[in-house]
Amino acid sequence: MFELLLTDPTSKARRGRLTTRHGVVETPIFMPVGTQGTVKAVSPAELRELNAQIILGNTYHLFLRPGLEILSEFGGLHGFSRWQGPILTDSGGFQVFSLARLRKITDAGVHFQSHIDGAACFIGPREAMQIQAVLGSDIAMLFDECPPYPCEKEYAAKSLQRTLLWAQQCKEVPTPGAKFGIIQGATFADLRRESAEALVQMDFDGYAVGGVSVGEPEEEMLAAVENSEPYLPAQKARYAMGLGTPPQMVEMVARGIDMFDCVLPTRVARNGTAYTGHGTVNLKNACHTRAHGPIEEGCTCPACREFSRAYIRHLLKAEEILGLRLVTLHNLHFYLNLMQRIRTALELGTFAQFRREFHGTYSPSTLPEEADE
Ligand SMILES: [Zn+2]
Repeated sequence: MFELLLTDPTSKARRGRLTTRHGVVETPIFMPVGTQGTVKAVSPAELRELNAQIILGNTYHLFLRPGLEILSEFGGLHGFSRWQGPILTDSGGFQVFSLARLRKITDAGVHFQSHIDGAACFIGPREAMQIQAVLGSDIAMLFDECPPYPCEKEYAAKSLQRTLLWAQQCKEVPTPGAKFGIIQGATFADLRRESAEALVQMDFDGYAVGGVSVGEPEEEMLAAVENSEPYLPAQKARYAMGLGTPPQMVEMVARGIDMFDCVLPTRVARNGTAYTGHGTVNLKNACHTRAHGPIEEGCTCPACREFSRAYIRHLLKAEEILGLRLVTLHNLHFYLNLMQRIRTALELGTFAQFRREFHGTYSPSTLPEEADE
């Protein structure tokens, strides 16, 4: 399912191609997040126009609402949402542990109360895969326990053993698409290695680095990837979950990661924050009151092609829905186009230069890192 096309001679960056039941994905790739069956405020037609190749859906949220009966009546998430491209679904592990009120965790799975109506629910490894099969996921993620940051080594080791046990059970459940294993092990290099080696032994279609972007400092985030990557086969796709800012993604590509997802471009758009090649800009600031230019000069997104910063600022200040939609479209374009530029640089053999110039121009923001919504 994954074809490694070339490897950058100056780093571990890779140019690859992922073939799914709903189409081909050129990597490295950013995947817009559609937690509730929609990328917030954006239609499938707009996603196509932005050249989004693959989007995310979420097991936990869609299982609670609208529920499997309705999704299955509509032929899964593709039929229900009308997005016809590839869909990767999160297993729900992360949300069960971060959003739901936990009742009991056993080796069979997790009893929890829905964060919507308090209903008693259960998701275990088998259930997580069955739900993803109903969703019609092209890439299903294994059900895992994502330990918090910081985390004691003893707990991380125990949690890792449970995640590996669950991985075996997930493997046995048939799903229509591919299955990706999730490497855990918190901030401990030996546990990351153990996790990666055990999952590779089980032979999945791809591997994700999980338990990152959970509030740890950036060095720990990079270390989690560096401590996992050497044990992964070159011929399988690698995915860093819930990352990141633009400079973090450039650095993760250089460390051998092929796939990313992050809520930042859509979430910060709702506060009026836009990404540009120089860093983030808050469009609500007074300096944009009379600005005739677009959010970013030369940007080809639907917002920049037509509207001034002054108009978008006005919409945001007046809390008009169009304002947050335009900034969302711009930010998604920025993330997707960044990956396109990286792919082109890899093909031209100029990735080292691209990486240097990107960091030279982009001033890192101080935005809070949050993994999910
Ligand atoms: Zn734009």
